[in-house]
Amino acid sequence: MSSNALLNWTGSSDEDDNEGGAVLMSSLHEYDVDEDDTSQLLNYRVENRTRNRNPIPLSSSALERIKEEKKYKYSLVSVLIIGVCLLLMVNIGLGYRKCEGQDGTSKHKVLKPKPQATVCRDNITKVIFPWQQYRLPSAIKPHVYSIFLHPNLTTFDCTGHINITFEVQEETNHIIFHSGAKLQLFDIYIVLPNKKHIKPTSKLYCEKNEMVALKFSNSLAKRSHYLLHIKFSYKLDFSLKGFYLSRYKKSNGKEMVIATTQFETVDARKAFPCFDEPIFKVNVSLQMVRDKHYQTLFNMPLKSTASISNNLEIDDFYATPKMSSYLIAFIVSDFQSVTNSTPSGIKVSVYASADKMGQLDFALKTAVNVLDFYEKFFKIPFPLEKMDLVAIPDFAAGAMENWGLITYRETAILYDPITSGISDKEWVAIVIAHEISHQWFGNLVTMEWWNDLWLNEGFATYMEYFGTNGIYPRWNIMSEFPVKEIYAAMGTDVSRYTHPISVTVDSSEETREIFDVISYEKGGSLISMMSDFFGEAFFQGVTAYLNAHAYGNAGNQDLIASVANAAANSKVNVQAMMDTWTIQPGFPVVTVTSSGHGKVTVSQKRFLYTIGTNEQQSKEMWQIPLSYISDKNTNDVGHFVLDKKLDSIEVDFKSWIKFNHNETGYYLVTYDKKLWKSLTQQLKSDPTVFTPNDRVGLLGDSFAAAHSGQLTYDELFDLVQFVRGESEYVVLYKALGSLTYIKDTLKFHLDESSHSLMKSFLIYLLQPIYDKIAWKDASKLTREENKLKTMITDDMCKNEHQPCIVKALQLFDTWKQNHTAVSPNDLETIFYAAVAHGPSANWNYLWNLYVNSTNPGLKRKILGALTSSNEVDHVLSLQGETLTTTNIRSQDSDKALAGLAQNLVGSALTWKFVRQNWDELLKLNPVSSYNMQRIIKSCLRTLTDENDISAAKGFFKAQGISDMKFVKRDLESVQINIHWLQNYHSPVKSWLGSNKHQWQNTA
Ligand SMILES: [Zn+2]
Repeated sequence: MSSNALLNWTGSSDEDDNEGGAVLMSSLHEYDVDEDDTSQLLNYRVENRTRNRNPIPLSSSALERIKEEKKYKYSLVSVLIIGVCLLLMVNIGLGYRKCEGQDGTSKHKVLKPKPQATVCRDNITKVIFPWQQYRLPSAIKPHVYSIFLHPNLTTFDCTGHINITFEVQEETNHIIFHSGAKLQLFDIYIVLPNKKHIKPTSKLYCEKNEMVALKFSNSLAKRSHYLLHIKFSYKLDFSLKGFYLSRYKKSNGKEMVIATTQFETVDARKAFPCFDEPIFKVNVSLQMVRDKHYQTLFNMPLKSTASISNNLEIDDFYATPKMSSYLIAFIVSDFQSVTNSTPSGIKVSVYASADKMGQLDFALKTAVNVLDFYEKFFKIPFPLEKMDLVAIPDFAAGAMENWGLITYRETAILYDPITSGISDKEWVAIVIAHEISHQWFGNLVTMEWWNDLWLNEGFATYMEYFGTNGIYPRWNIMSEFPVKEIYAAMGTDVSRYTHPISVTVDSSEETREIFDVISYEKGGSLISMMSDFFGEAFFQGVTAYLNAHAYGNAGNQDLIASVANAAANSKVNVQAMMDTWTIQPGFPVVTVTSSGHGKVTVSQKRFLYTIGTNEQQSKEMWQIPLSYISDKNTNDVGHFVLDKKLDSIEVDFKSWIKFNHNETGYYLVTYDKKLWKSLTQQLKSDPTVFTPNDRVGLLGDSFAAAHSGQLTYDELFDLVQFVRGESEYVVLYKALGSLTYIKDTLKFHLDESSHSLMKSFLIYLLQPIYDKIAWKDASKLTREENKLKTMITDDMCKNEHQPCIVKALQLFDTWKQNHTAVSPNDLETIFYAAVAHGPSANWNYLWNLYVNSTNPGLKRKILGALTSSNEVDHVLSLQGETLTTTNIRSQDSDKALAGLAQNLVGSALTWKFVRQNWDELLKLNPVSSYNMQRIIKSCLRTLTDENDISAAKGFFKAQGISDMKFVKRDLESVQINIHWLQNYHSPVKSWLGSNKHQWQNTA
């Protein structure tokens, strides 16, 4: 397959070659070690992902399937029947737009009006707003935005104006566009083709949809071009969206304020009036007035600067190519930069505040190399002259792919050799590879509407591994895709309240809510499965798609058509196959049963965890590209497309067969008892006949089988013991994740004796590898061993392995004397031990360091540790700090509260705190934001009985959010946990009790 050749692409650098000993050590990232398994379900990014290794028992049932929509246009008669809203549109001549259907399955459907709960009226005059739909009418097509802005970073006033050149597509006397609720608009007029200025006769505002309607006395003629002029003003704030403020402390203690943007998904309208939907692609130019000690960055290079007073200058920028509003960005700051160029001459710069100049080199090198890699891979030159990457002190997401001006949370771009470990470095590379892949897939070709967000994010999720692998092939990062992405996707997609990957989006809340695991991880998993299955044709199709739709918009179907065209020789109907994965929610489990004589039967059904007694059989069916190996020849990979509920395959095997070779497919597998037994025996006698990812798969499949009653826990624990001899990072990552689910459920259920036995069982499994590599000098270990070492050591300390804790506390004392004396890879573990097992003074020491440090990476590590304190005073103190935001930035409140919720001392207190301070928390984080989702999920993870669920349901209902998808999913997870306790607590407890002699004798 083509991807094999591409995977071996060697870029201009291999990081390992020039790393010193100190940087060759691994540190555990939050995605490696967080005790809360919330992040596994929520690792999205605009780009805001954290990682986690353990998808919990998954679950789900009857979800509405997206219906095939028929293409039709509304006749005038049907319009009349449909009701007043549409009638109003017709009357005022706004016309219809071409758009996706409600399900996004076809891009050529006419907007289907949806009755809205309340009629939107102007907030002052109460006149009915002339357009009631969430999406703008298509009568007006903007072509050019000329933006002038003057943000005052002392008074925080921002004034400006915009000239929008537009074309009339349907005769109308209205212009309807977006404008944020805080914008004051004035001096509005249009310029006619004859240069005459005309003012509107009325201006109405629909706050719910953030739309302005201007009415003119005469109709605007179809196909004519006009210019719309609007002056506006507003106050800049620290809301992390629109054009907003961020502050940081200089090394001399002086506080500085910068102004920056975050527009995706619906917040460009908060910075200037515009047609704020991805379908409206325009050329944008910018003029920015600023203090002469500051500089401005924009998507495009600077054209000229002129002085306008003693202190003020104005920057004038080149116009962009056609682009969507959510990708516009500008920054006014005093930042400094480092710069280099790609072989094709694109100037790449990384910006940050002056004290962080020493932490930018790795990001610069990665960005230059990955940009070059993608230009060659996509065979399409990057169309802009420059690429800026900027570290923003306050940033809600992880990073944002603005065209030519990518913004990052500081921890996603800074790499400090003193405090950053291997995982920190990988994270920086992965986020950069993700965002830069969007410059083609998302920016050059943009989804028509947010229902196809998965195309953007799924593709970038796959490319973040592919691109990183392209430039740092020795990292072997592709091998981590199944365990970190596919299992994370399934962990959410198993819910009965998951959603199809192509989804209806009809409100601002919905557009924010779809930045979830389904769009990112499931999207990425499907791209991975398809690229594996179709080989070279897949990426040929991608390149054809990018060329065909450059500077325009496209949908799911366009990509599929393009791949189908490239894969014309394949016997598979690409469209039909992809539809089964994008239109249906959930994913299948394949049951393999040996029928003797070299034959197995394979059947499929939707995988769901049982939570009640009346489960219905699923009707879903997928076209599953199966792959398998057997004990006859593990190098001979069989392939079979299962497109029926039940089928049979002839396979040459003696005692076992293993499906989903290397875990490239988005499905689980289970086997009949005899096959499971043979697989277990093979794992126990010689696991290395399976590749590391096949071992990952056998763990994932066996835990899922046990959690759904197809394997007993005796059988599961018998199988799992092979990991006692394991030394592969991905296999132990999966094993620890799955076992931690059981451990945590026992912990929150307050079964201390079983919880304690589970911890000692984990210590027993990890002891051999711990003895081999823990605390060893990093320079004596390989990169992979260093990563493994960090993960294992952290887990051993968290399982209260006394020698581990003693060593960590010793190292903490050493580190207090000399901050460079300890490997950055060990910092999180020693901070954790210092807080959880050391004197109270350790907490105070770290808190003071947290408050005073300007190193965001170090602060992140410290904050995680601070949440592990067993002292109530510490818990309450941190909770309070999340509200003031003086010391803990609002972007980090989720890390603090989610960490406290996972701490047994803090769990009940934190859930109470969240409920009592709900309104305050919402002011810092919108309810659909990643942060709030993570906080809520972490709190609900700790609940283990029906009364808790009822109380939580009542609370969410009172807050009006009980219908939100993530709330339903989280509540369902609690029910799954309760079901697990009812059915499996006893056998697990009993197995631990009767087997403890094994590890007690060994210890
Ligand atoms: Zn993305």
